[in-house]
Amino acid sequence: MYAYEALPVAEWFRRNRELAGFHNPTRALYQTIRELTENSLDATETYGILPTILLRVNVEDEQKGWVSVYAEDNGIGIPGNEIPNVFGRVFYSSKYRIKQHRGVFGLGLKMVVLYAQSTTNKPVLVRSAPLKSDKIFEYQIMIDTNSNSPIILDKREYPNKYRWHGTAVKVYLEGNWLASKKRIEDYLRRTAIIAPYAEIIFKGPDLELWLKRRTTKLPPAPKEGLPHPRSVDVDTLKQMIQESRGLTLQEFLMENFDAVGEGTAKAFLEWAGFNPNMKVRALTPEELVRLVEKMKQYEGWRRPRSDWLSPAGAELLEIGAKAILGAEAVFAVTRKPESYGGHPFIVEAAVAWGGQIPPGDRPVLLRYANKIPLLYDEGADVARKVVDEFNWQNYKVKFPAPLAVIIHVCSTKIPYASAGKEAIAEVPEIEKEMRLALRDAAKKLRLYLSRKEKEMEMLNRYITLAKYIDEVAYNLALVTRIDKEPIAGNLHKLIEKKIGLTVDELVKHTLSMSSTQQEMAEAAPQ
Ligand code: ADP
Ligand code: MG
Repeated sequence: MYAYEALPVAEWFRRNRELAGFHNPTRALYQTIRELTENSLDATETYGILPTILLRVNVEDEQKGWVSVYAEDNGIGIPGNEIPNVFGRVFYSSKYRIKQHRGVFGLGLKMVVLYAQSTTNKPVLVRSAPLKSDKIFEYQIMIDTNSNSPIILDKREYPNKYRWHGTAVKVYLEGNWLASKKRIEDYLRRTAIIAPYAEIIFKGPDLELWLKRRTTKLPPAPKEGLPHPRSVDVDTLKQMIQESRGLTLQEFLMENFDAVGEGTAKAFLEWAGFNPNMKVRALTPEELVRLVEKMKQYEGWRRPRSDWLSPAGAELLEIGAKAILGAEAVFAVTRKPESYGGHPFIVEAAVAWGGQIPPGDRPVLLRYANKIPLLYDEGADVARKVVDEFNWQNYKVKFPAPLAVIIHVCSTKIPYASAGKEAIAEVPEIEKEMRLALRDAAKKLRLYLSRKEKEMEMLNRYITLAKYIDEVAYNLALVTRIDKEPIAGNLHKLIEKKIGLTVDELVKHTLSMSSTQQEMAEAAPQ
């Protein structure tokens, strides 16, 4: 006999936690930092607040392998009555809207709490105050996985004397600090590259990072949007219709979808063979399916609006990459919005050259989705493929080269290759944009490298000519009976004039080049 039963959703996630990145104590610690950091960034920058995030990892019990993670931000906080659900109910979120966020599933915090209680049996400690709140709320929460609801172990309120706003979270979990240290550091540095307006302070057992704010410029906040007609499925449409009161088909389309005005709605309905004045509630199930099919096929929609997106922008990428990678030069581009299956997306790319970037046989790749650094599953990511297939020779790059490539995709729906959200799937539209973004950035790099090459040539010519100065000056001095020194000086000036740069400038420009080139520059007469 089979024993049939339903598995509650929270219990399912507790059992299948590796699907959300909580495979083992190493990954779990990394993932905990990631979820908390991303929530903090969402709660600040999306609302025009410059993020200040404090993170602490402590080893609590070495024998048991227990650690604690503390995360505090200066964000918009969480209303007191929402705290229990936000921490204690799987799939509870304020981000199920068409707008770019880091969080998408309403799952991150709950996975942290579930993993923590499964390994240490301790509750999560939360302290939060919303903007302008005169109270600070404090909770201790665990999750009842059978009912998918919060268990409140303790609850307090304090007067908010100093009008603090933000959220602080502390959890105890089984975590392998030593094994995850490198990834955590990498993750935080990469976050600082794409969010140079954030200040992130990290304190771990043997690692302290102070990632300073490099700019006070925030990217424009995303607006909240409507779905594009091409992006909905039958079920979604059914739900929308249920909420639609007594609208006609034409009114329904205009009211509920992005980029559909009166003209577009009429033209579409005529093309699709529907009566614009019929009540939307009167659609039969067959008609519903046909409507969705037609909505996907119709060529006349305007492309999805991109106001729901918030790319970093070339300027911030350049600031971030220079500061964190210590690159000599960074060239970034933000492509124009495009779309796939009705979802708007924007690709950004940057190439970082020289400085502290170690020369490698292929470019170091830094991948991002909605400003989240992706660290695992690089091989499965379409960005890796694009970068590997890219014809670098056309852009004057010869390997080994000190080259890093940043590729950022932002979208209201990132097509992840797996539930682990660590790699972007091969969507042709996105792949194409990645290629073009990389090309645009690499063109700028080529210009830069050829300018440097020219400067090198001039320096070499100078060195060649300068070898003769002494001898020529000596002979001229003999003939003219003028002192040799001023003649030599003038000859130097003459050459400098001919190559259009002073030797000092030349040497300065070329000093940052590769070692053999550098030696030559140093050998140049001062
Ligand atoms: P998601 O981030 O996908 O929405 P989470 O479980 O990580 O899912 O978070 C649930 C909700 O809790 C968020 O949608 C947000 O409203 C709220 N939240 C979480 N962390 C913070 C924070 N640091 N500041 C303000 N709100 C937060
Ligand atoms: Mg989240």
